[in-house]
Amino acid sequence: MTELLPWMQDTWDRLQTRTASNNLPHAVLLTGRAGLGKQQFARLLAQSLLCDEPLDGGLPCGKCRGCALNTAGSHPDLSLVMPESDGKQLIGFFTLTSQYAGRKVALVTPAEAMNAAAANSLLKTLEEPPANAVIILVTDRPSVLPATIRSRCQTFHCALPSRPIARHWLSSQLVPGSDADHLLNLCGDAPLAALALGNDTGLEQRAEIFAQFEAVGRQQQDPLQIAESWGKAGAREPLNWLHNWAADMIRLRQAGDGSRIHNEDLRSDLQRLSNTVDLLDLHEWRDAVAQALRLTATAANDQMLVEDVLLGWVKVGNRRGR
Ligand SMILES: [Zn+2]
Repeated sequence: MTELLPWMQDTWDRLQTRTASNNLPHAVLLTGRAGLGKQQFARLLAQSLLCDEPLDGGLPCGKCRGCALNTAGSHPDLSLVMPESDGKQLIGFFTLTSQYAGRKVALVTPAEAMNAAAANSLLKTLEEPPANAVIILVTDRPSVLPATIRSRCQTFHCALPSRPIARHWLSSQLVPGSDADHLLNLCGDAPLAALALGNDTGLEQRAEIFAQFEAVGRQQQDPLQIAESWGKAGAREPLNWLHNWAADMIRLRQAGDGSRIHNEDLRSDLQRLSNTVDLLDLHEWRDAVAQALRLTATAANDQMLVEDVLLGWVKVGNRRGR
């Protein structure tokens, strides 16, 4: 059975209090940083809502018919909608009656990836929700959701864990010898993101992205070519790193050598880079990267987003000492 991650306990308890007093909203919007485990949490919540005999504290029993169907991934009263990958829609799900005369639960993740038709269909359901319906929406970017949808949901925000809690959990998951603190620094304390980075080829990819970024700045590599390759693999990850490095360059520039930064292993490189550009330009470029990142959630073309950001970086370099 899926585990309840320790830093999610508080959000879980708030939801359970509402469930226990028959006061659970029809639409739950789960927000919080990427890499916290919101999706895993939402599945556990859905399973708990469809469990015949939840345990004390609300966790699903794992034994009843509802839990067995959920474990098999075939509960007829659960609709799992992942707009990014399956294009499946909610249309019609709530007009069918519950197979087991209980709740009907829909889980939409990531909710901001819904297209206009899916969002409209969801809105209709939210305007007149069936009595037994619970819709769980998961997003790291609530501002991208239509305001009409957000206003009909009750938001439950998942907070970042403290460093000791994150470190303790992450160390138990990583292969021995991994540097949990370094990974957490790089991922802004989001434990699942740190785990993915540590277990996969994430750190190698980051090193490659950094080398390419530096080469573009030195005008030794064609930004359009890099944009093409990053665009193909998905712009979100490289843009995330660029944003992370930009923030550190600004810290180093403003607070000097002693400043706390996320990318400790790149300190001297970032210091050198930040010294070659104008601080105001650096701020503007960081904002441009942030804007491009927001647009990766939309239908915008990934390659063009990266092109703008990299050409912007070349321009910032060319303007130094003006
Ligand atoms: Zn159960």
